Amino acid sequence: MNFEVFSLGTSGMMPLPGRFLTSALVRREGELFLFDCGEGTQVSLKMLNLKWKHINRIFISHMHADHVTGLPGLLMLSSQVERTEPLYIYGPARLQEYIESSRRILDMYINYEIKVIPVEIGTIVENDEYIISCFPLKHTKQCYGYSLSEKRRPGEFSVEKAKALKVPMGPLWGRLQKGECVENSDGEIITPDMVLGPMREGRKFSFVTDTMYFPEIADYVHDSDILFCEAMFEKGLEEDAREKKHMTSEQAAMVARDSGSEKLCLQHYSPRYSDKELKLLLKEAKEIFPNTILTKDRMSFVIPLKD
Ligand SMILES: [Zn+2]
Ligand SMILES: [Zn+2]
Repeated sequence: MNFEVFSLGTSGMMPLPGRFLTSALVRREGELFLFDCGEGTQVSLKMLNLKWKHINRIFISHMHADHVTGLPGLLMLSSQVERTEPLYIYGPARLQEYIESSRRILDMYINYEIKVIPVEIGTIVENDEYIISCFPLKHTKQCYGYSLSEKRRPGEFSVEKAKALKVPMGPLWGRLQKGECVENSDGEIITPDMVLGPMREGRKFSFVTDTMYFPEIADYVHDSDILFCEAMFEKGLEEDAREKKHMTSEQAAMVARDSGSEKLCLQHYSPRYSDKELKLLLKEAKEIFPNTILTKDRMSFVIPLKD
């Protein structure tokens, strides 16, 4: 079961050569989830050779240009393939208006259904395998963070135990694995816990941008395997960051540490920093949270299964 995260753009405010605007893609079991869609998103998708025209769901943090200007082009180009499933796009209230006016004014040809869903805090997508939740951030306008969390999976099925308990091989094994009780060949009730190992933890990806620092972010993204978090400024500009409702890399590291997350991927850097100067942001974050990555465009990360 693959779970990969691709960084498509890591710049905040303006695109730079080699640093496109904010966007990240998660590929999990053949499904594609896009988080924000800044300018350049399509180019990174193309360079990574991802089959992006089949993106299943898009999540938008907020209605600032550096997070949504890639969207009209991406929606239009997605029409180059046949799709039967609608494309679901989640985000703040005015997202619908933005998409509708772009379609109308730009005469966009779109051959599939787009469903824009204004998000509310809490669970926004849930199925048997995962939950996608939305939480509030504190920015200069309404802004949301997102987490994609896999549900816990049943423990490993023990063939030896099943045989020893006289459960014949076949559909009864499958029912036990699904959590149902069955009857063995002696007519005794066998419960799933008699043949399954301990529950297996799911994996989690969280996406946080744009926001000022506040301690509750750590609760929202608790136990993330990968936390993509904005890191607009260095420690010395903390005042500036607070005023502009952004974070320093040190504050991003505090969120990672306090949330018990595994890996922190910095993103949404101020264009004031050259690639070389970004090392300072990394250094300051690592002092608080060593497992920090200075994310670059088109880096990818795999979250392994926890068995
Ligand atoms: Zn931004
Ligand atoms: Zn913003």
